Amino acid sequence: DMEVAIKVVVVGNGAVGKSSMIQRYCKGIFTKDYKKTIGVDFLERQIIVNGEEVRLMLWDTAGQEEFDAITKAYYRGAHACVLVFSTTDRESYQAIDNWREKVEAEVGNIPTVLVQNKIDLLEETVIKNEEAEALAKRLKLRFYRASVKEDLNVNEVFKYLAEKYLQR
Ligand code: GDP
Ligand code: MG
Repeated sequence: DMEVAIKVVVVGNGAVGKSSMIQRYCKGIFTKDYKKTIGVDFLERQIIVNGEEVRLMLWDTAGQEEFDAITKAYYRGAHACVLVFSTTDRESYQAIDNWREKVEAEVGNIPTVLVQNKIDLLEETVIKNEEAEALAKRLKLRFYRASVKEDLNVNEVFKYLAEKYLQR
C-alpha cells in the first residue's frame, strides 16, 4: 500500500534547539556545535504508527528565523508543526504566538505540538511551569517538556504528530 509521508516544520526562535532536535531524531546524535549541512533541506525518519509505515520529513532552516526571513517554500505543503521554545530564553517563549500565526497564515490549522526544550537546564529556567502550561492551554496544543541533549521526550513529540496526522 501507499506509504504515508509527512512534512513537518520545526519553528521557533534561533538557538532553541530546532536543528539539534531534527538531528537527534533522525540521526540519533547530539553535538554541541551543530552546523547545518549546506544543501540539505530536511532529514527523514521512518516509523510505524498503528501498523502503518510513516515517513517523517523534518524540515530545518539555515538560521533565517533570526532575521524573520523564513520563505514560503519552507512552509509549503507542511502537514504538521513543532513549535519550540527554550527553558532558558524568555523571548523564545513570548514569540510562540507569533510563530503559530505565521504557520497558520501559510498552511492553515495543521497538527501542531508545543515543546519546551532544554529541560535539562531547569535550574536556569526563566519560565514558570504554570506559564508554559497556560500557553499550551490557550493555544489548545499538546505540550511536551523535552531535552534534546538528554534525549527526553523527542520521540514522543514526533509520534504524537504522526498519530494526529493519521487521525485526520
Ligand atoms: P536552533 O537555532 O533552534 O536550530 O538551535 P540549535 O539546534 O542550533 O541549538 C542551539 C544550542 O542549544 C546548541 O549549542 C545546542 O547544542 C544547544 N541545545 C539544543 N538542545 C539542547 C538541550 O536539550 N539542552 C541543552 N542544554 N542544550 C541544547
Ligand atoms: Mg538551526
